[in-house]
Amino acid sequence: ILKTQQLTKKFGDNLVLKGIDSEVQAGQVIVIIGPSGSGKSTYLRCLNLLEQPTSGQVFFKDQEINELDEAHLDQIREKMGMVFQSFNLFANYTVLENVNLAPINVQHLDQATANQQSLALLEQVGLGDKATATPASLSGGQQQRVAIARALAMKPDVMLFDEPTSALDPEMVGEVLNVMRDLAKTGMTMVIVTHEMGFAKNVADEVWFMDDGQVVEQGTPEQVFEHPQEQRTQDFLSKVL
Ligand code: ATP
Ligand code: MG
Repeated sequence: ILKTQQLTKKFGDNLVLKGIDSEVQAGQVIVIIGPSGSGKSTYLRCLNLLEQPTSGQVFFKDQEINELDEAHLDQIREKMGMVFQSFNLFANYTVLENVNLAPINVQHLDQATANQQSLALLEQVGLGDKATATPASLSGGQQQRVAIARALAMKPDVMLFDEPTSALDPEMVGEVLNVMRDLAKTGMTMVIVTHEMGFAKNVADEVWFMDDGQVVEQGTPEQVFEHPQEQRTQDFLSKVL
C-alpha cells in the first residue's frame, strides 16, 4: 500500500535519507526503531509528502505521489492519518468538535452524521464520556487518544505515528499503546516510530532498524530483537533493551 524507491532527502548538505527502498503491505504493522537523528521522522514525513523528497519515488496504492500538485496531495494525505508526539488539538474546541472538524469541513458530512461517527470513534479510544470536555481538561494520554480519534475520523487507509507516547508521563503510555494495539487488531495499516520496545515485540509484524539514513535491518520482532544480524542493530539494542 506504501512503497519507496531510492528515497533520498537532503537538508542543505546533510543527506539524511540515503536511498531507502521500502514496502508496507496493507494490514501490516511496521515499527521503526533507531537512534536519534537516524532519519525516522524524516522518512515518515516523506511518506505523506510533508517533506518533499530530494530524489526517489513514493507510491501510495501503486500511484506515484511525489510529483503530485498540492490539491491532489491533500486528497492523498486525507487517507494517511498522522499522529505526532505533540497532540496539537484545538484548544478552543471541545473534544467532539476536534474530531468533527475534518469530517465536516473536508468531507462535508452533516452535523448529525459527523457527531455519530465521532462519538463512535471516541468510544473506540475509551473517551466516550469526554465529548464535551475541552482538551486542556484532559490528561496527556487522553489528549493523544483524541488525536488518534481525530486522525481516524477521515477513514484513513494508513496511520503514521511519530513517537506518539514520547511526550507522555509514564503512567499514561500504556493507555495510548493499548488503543494502538486495538487499532492494529482491526487490520489498520500502521507505520509507527517508537522507543517502546515491548510494544514493538508484541504488536509489530515487522521491525525496521534505521541508522544513518538507511534501513539497516528489517524482519519479524523475533528476528530483529533475538537474532539481529547487523553489528549496528546489536549495538543499538544493547543500549535500549
Ligand atoms: P529522533 O529520534 O531524535 O526523533 P529521527 O530519527 O526522527 O530522530 P530526523 O528528525 O528524521 O531523525 O532527523 C534526521 C536528520 O535530519 C537530523 O540530522 C536532523 O537534524 C535533520 N533534520 C530533520 N529535519 C530537518 C529540517 N527541517 N531542516 C534541517 N535539518 C533537518
Ligand atoms: Mg524523530
